[in-house]
Amino acid sequence: MTCRIVKLPGGGTAIACGPRGANRNAPRCHRCNAPAPYLCDFVTGTEDRGVAVVKKTCDRPMCAGCRVPIMGGKDICHPHYQEFGAIAERVAKEAT
Ligand SMILES: [Zn+2]
Ligand SMILES: [Zn+2]
Repeated sequence: MTCRIVKLPGGGTAIACGPRGANRNAPRCHRCNAPAPYLCDFVTGTEDRGVAVVKKTCDRPMCAGCRVPIMGGKDICHPHYQEFGAIAERVAKEAT
């Protein structure tokens, strides 16, 4: 196992360890275990950090094939899509 310093886009650095520098810690899709470049944008709650209240999101890793695009250019995971769909249905029923 080797460790190396990786420069981050923001200007910081991080230490990456692993065989051949492979990104073994790269997120894997929650459904099919493929490399997951997307994270679920579903808001699960808020966190009060004193100076600002920030939204917490699910952040479940998803591959391009398993993400579910929703309005606003966001993507959510399948479990949340089911929940989101159920909520949308409930709201629709309550509205009638
Ligand atoms: Zn997938
Ligand atoms: Zn989710």
